[in-house]
Amino acid sequence: MFIAHLPAGYLAADLVASTKDEGRRGLIAVGLIASILPDIDLLWFYLVDNRQTAHHEYVFHWPLFWISIAFGAWAISWITDQSWIRPYILVALIGLLLHMMLDSFAAEIYWLRPFSEFHLNAVKVPARFEWWVWNFILHWTFAVELAICATAILVYRRRKAVFRTT
Ligand SMILES: [Zn+2]
Repeated sequence: MFIAHLPAGYLAADLVASTKDEGRRGLIAVGLIASILPDIDLLWFYLVDNRQTAHHEYVFHWPLFWISIAFGAWAISWITDQSWIRPYILVALIGLLLHMMLDSFAAEIYWLRPFSEFHLNAVKVPARFEWWVWNFILHWTFAVELAICATAILVYRRRKAVFRTT
């Protein structure tokens, strides 16, 4: 997935934030960051690994890694009685898992690593063009990305209009 992670993260965070009375901006900010955080491993891919391993195989693209961190953060919040942080943990985990779900669309995501090599790749994008980016942009799955972007823009504009009138 190329361009839809951030708008999809916005839509998910907006949905979670709409169930809360306060902290809307903070929840959306956390959701937006989480929705693109796994792709920070592209730095490792280009700068350290010299493009030897598909970046979707790195630990930052393992759903169980993020679930473990969220579980740990939730446990710490429970031990220290800091319940205010739990909606942020929830929105972050939703953004992270949404990232992996969207990546599973046209790339291999190892949902059960490190315990299993099971991976999900809903649609195989054929390599038809020399520059690999065209393979994705000129594939029908890119229309899904555009639809997510358009939906996010519509929701954002509607929210802005609602806040302007209240
Ligand atoms: Zn990714």
